[in-house]
Amino acid sequence: MAVETLIELLRGKRVVALTGAGCSTESGIPDYRGIDTPPRKRPPIQHREFVDRPEWRRRYWARSMIGWPKIAAAQPNATHAALAALEHAGVVVGTITQNVDGLHQAAGSTAIVELHGALARVKCLACETIVSRAEIQQRLRAANPAWSRDDHQNEAAPDGDAELDAEYDAFVVVDCEACGGTLMPDVVFFGGSVPRATLDAAWATFDRAEVLLVVGSSLTVFSGYRFVRRAAEHGVPVAIVNRGPTRGDPHAQLCVDAVSSTALLAVQRALT
Ligand SMILES: [Zn+2]
Repeated sequence: MAVETLIELLRGKRVVALTGAGCSTESGIPDYRGIDTPPRKRPPIQHREFVDRPEWRRRYWARSMIGWPKIAAAQPNATHAALAALEHAGVVVGTITQNVDGLHQAAGSTAIVELHGALARVKCLACETIVSRAEIQQRLRAANPAWSRDDHQNEAAPDGDAELDAEYDAFVVVDCEACGGTLMPDVVFFGGSVPRATLDAAWATFDRAEVLLVVGSSLTVFSGYRFVRRAAEHGVPVAIVNRGPTRGDPHAQLCVDAVSSTALLAVQRALT
């Protein structure tokens, strides 16, 4: 069966993992591109809208304040644990993740490149000071006591905001304490670009791969898909574990249509 073939493909090789939202669905973080999730009511916020328009920032932070506790409380699942165990066993030499939830590190992986940043960090667009999202959450709640009631609990979206129908005009956004500048989560929004240093680190990780193992990504977004394309160009075998088809399937040596934890647990048992 496919998982046995996967194990043989990975055995004795330096594996680089490329992971996406499908890794974290079992941790309660919805995969908005998965095959069994409904489309979101609204499109995700765009980078330029956030930077240019205060009313969009109000909307973002209002929804983010509501959605953050669910993201912050999420725990790594068997997929994260398997990848961490494979790293400690020397099988996985690095993981490039499109996820912004920090769950790979929570599971014990250390060789991680966070391609799209991390929701746990907030950055000042003016002075580039980084502060923790937890600290910003406290400041947001203090500035918006009327919004801090638990009856706003709603389905959290993967980028940490929540579907919420309300008026945002009254929401108070907090600014950088150092310089008064605009704060933005340290993540790559749609329409934004991956920072140069992050991309360099991702390619350095990719260059160590004897096999590229894609886990839980439909590879819809180019920032992840480019690694699969480069692997194909360089003759590096690609294995994909995902529920449903992916954009990378034509380049893959092996596609395992499975929930990632099932396949990764089998790989972990066989190779560690
Ligand atoms: Zn600042």
